[in-house]
Amino acid sequence: MKTVFTASRLFTPTEEILNPLLIVEDGRIVEVSARSGKEVPGHAPLVDFGDSVLAPGFLDIHMHGGAGLDLMRASPDELPRLGKFLTTHGVTGYFPTTVAAPLDATCAALERLADAIEAAQNKGKNGNAIQARPLGIHLEGPFLSHKRRGVHPPEFLVNPTLEIFERLWQAARGHVRMLTIAPEIPGALDVIAEAARRHVCVSIGHSDAEMAVAQSGVNAGARHATHTFNAMRPLDHRDPGIITEVLTDDRLTADIIADGIHVAPPVVKLFLQAKGTERAVLITDCISATGMPEGRYQLGPIQVEVKDGKCTAGGSLAGSVLTMDRAVRNVTQFAHWSLKDAVRAATLNPAWAAGLEGQGTLACGADADFTVLTPAGEVVKTIVHGQGL
Ligand SMILES: [Zn+2]
Repeated sequence: MKTVFTASRLFTPTEEILNPLLIVEDGRIVEVSARSGKEVPGHAPLVDFGDSVLAPGFLDIHMHGGAGLDLMRASPDELPRLGKFLTTHGVTGYFPTTVAAPLDATCAALERLADAIEAAQNKGKNGNAIQARPLGIHLEGPFLSHKRRGVHPPEFLVNPTLEIFERLWQAARGHVRMLTIAPEIPGALDVIAEAARRHVCVSIGHSDAEMAVAQSGVNAGARHATHTFNAMRPLDHRDPGIITEVLTDDRLTADIIADGIHVAPPVVKLFLQAKGTERAVLITDCISATGMPEGRYQLGPIQVEVKDGKCTAGGSLAGSVLTMDRAVRNVTQFAHWSLKDAVRAATLNPAWAAGLEGQGTLACGADADFTVLTPAGEVVKTIVHGQGL
């Protein structure tokens, strides 16, 4: 059965369509067009979202939890609670992201996350609860620089080897889609090359690399950068470092935490100008405390204090309580980007960076995963697989 959606505008997100028609059948988009001159299919129900905007569902490729749930510990049957919470912020797909922890604990978490990903795949359009789906795993650690580890515990950082990567890969049953790695640590280039060969999006980050070393990482197969500016060798005009590589190399997409806390708003603007509308990606790096009262929370093995919207552990920032809809609105304010371009950085660009084909776009044949926004970017409704009314 077909359902027809309309609103005042639609972002594909590369194009803007005025007075759009979005037709959905069996959880998939079967038509995206302008309403003018089109016949609305006779007996199909029409859902009119008035002056709202239809946009692809947001994709968050770096997040650690939310709604009180920590993804290093959560069991697969708890994930729907998180998935539901995420849809209230426009997210329809996400990458559960690990933190450095004992290898056994990490492998146990990866097995649980693989279960959750496979359950979401099997449920597909027959799932009845409307929830964002885990699409793949992001390994943030254990291959990070000691000097730029942030809050990742130093005792759980390890030098990259193909053996350890293989162990993590097996535990995750091949669902690793993203790997954050410091290119300067011994063994990194071999693991970068092997992960890239397996179509993992290799992202340089938590790194103290000089520019030339960061470039070797890219030459070995890295194609992305993790929370630009945070946990990176700082930019110095006589010591360009990894940040200059990230900002100037068009082979790289890059992400940023646009909460105004991790990176000052004018520097977010600098980042967006450097990477442009095609290569800038928004992430939240949100933790279990997101959507919860302030207090003490767990991030894997790390205790985090949440106060005044800031997450800290031992004086360092420890993730965020940012939601993706806010990140999108922040970009329209910090850099005066249009809502369409800001939406692109939360949809098509992460999909492209992470190799999620057919995601992050409203096009014929794509999953009917979309969010309905007010003209100011507030979430009105989120539809997953054509469901959620
Ligand atoms: Zn993180």
